[in-house]
Amino acid sequence: MHTFQFIRPEDSTAAVATAAQAKTAQQGADVRFIGGGTTLLDLMKLNVETPARVIDINRLPLDKIEATPDGGLKIGATVRNSDLAHHPTVQGDYAVLSQALLAGASAQLRNMATTAGNLLQRTRCMYFCDTAMPCNKREPGTGCPAITGANRMLAVLGTSEHCIATNPSDMCVALAALEATIYVEGAKGARAIPIGEFHLLPGTTPNRETVLEPGDLVTHVTLPPPVAGSKQVYLKLRDRASYEFALASAAVVITVAGGKVTRARVALGGVGTKPWRSPEAEAALVGQPTGSANFRKAAEAALRYAKPQSENGFKIELAKRCLMHALEMAIA
Ligand SMILES: Cc1cc2nc3c(=O)[nH]c(=O)nc-3n(C[C@H](O)[C@H](O)[C@H](O)COP(=O)(O)OP(=O)(O)OC[C@H]3O[C@@H](n4cnc5c(N)ncnc54)[C@H](O)[C@@H]3O)c2cc1C
Ligand code: SF4
Repeated sequence: MHTFQFIRPEDSTAAVATAAQAKTAQQGADVRFIGGGTTLLDLMKLNVETPARVIDINRLPLDKIEATPDGGLKIGATVRNSDLAHHPTVQGDYAVLSQALLAGASAQLRNMATTAGNLLQRTRCMYFCDTAMPCNKREPGTGCPAITGANRMLAVLGTSEHCIATNPSDMCVALAALEATIYVEGAKGARAIPIGEFHLLPGTTPNRETVLEPGDLVTHVTLPPPVAGSKQVYLKLRDRASYEFALASAAVVITVAGGKVTRARVALGGVGTKPWRSPEAEAALVGQPTGSANFRKAAEAALRYAKPQSENGFKIELAKRCLMHALEMAIA
């Protein structure tokens, strides 16, 4: 049986110093932070994660939602997903984030899940979660059975011949469309990471999912000031209406004037190996009249480089329709 030590540090410096003793901050890390535990404990029960030390960060003062001096929003790492979704500023100015959070998991899980934990949740690929199976993400070099196996839920964008796992987060898709920044305190000091640079494509190292290094503690996330007059929608398509991950989702933040799109931020979920911002769709939208013909062009652009596997080709058209429908909802 696996045993581990549970640690409650007094301050973030102590937390970082303890975590910095790990060999990696990625799969197989022997020291792990724990927020709500809704990902980590599940994976420990399955022996997918076997940390020797678990650092409980819930006593650290990282649970605030505050305005930033520039008019944006600062969200602490241990803010619960439900508190964030129901915060009046988030509901009013960052509606796409509130909608994405409320589309995820269940009320009970959202009451536990934290901002940082959601950023770092792991794929639901069934082979990753089953230690009897090979998996390049869990054990580099063992192979990817999903490519010839059960891949209906897996990714069509950003895949490699080594891994096609989907990033399952709804929250991160909204954060991508809102151009969030992630703040980390690490052994070498503090740094800020744009959300688009935080998650890594699988490439030849699918075991490495983020740019985090041993000791790196996510302390908070910031959002830029809200864009005046922007319309925001998160639309999630899934096999059942709750307690289910996205087959395809779309986060859109668009501004329209005189019948034309003047600014667009678009991100997709359920289809990418990381939360999938689509500059191609944004470029296809800006300067063009609103309407289904141009929304179809944007959707085609977003999925232009999609690569289907044996069971998930349907996701490509589904994601296109999801994005088109989200855009229609935004301008309605
Ligand atoms: C049944 C079920 C259904 C779900 N459905 C959905 C869904 O539809 N959509 C969706 O988006 N999500 C879904 N989830 C996932 C859920 O949102 C995540 O489990 C949750 O957000 C993780 O947050 P947590 O605080 O519990 O993370 P934890 O389990 O505490 O941690 C997750 C990871 O983050 C690391 N970590 C935590 N905090 C920090 C920090 N501050 N700095 C550095 N590393 C840190 C941990 O070490 C661990 O590796 C579902 C989960 C379950 C169990
Ligand atoms: S898709 Fe990725 S996580 Fe799933 S089996 Fe292949 S390597 Fe493992």
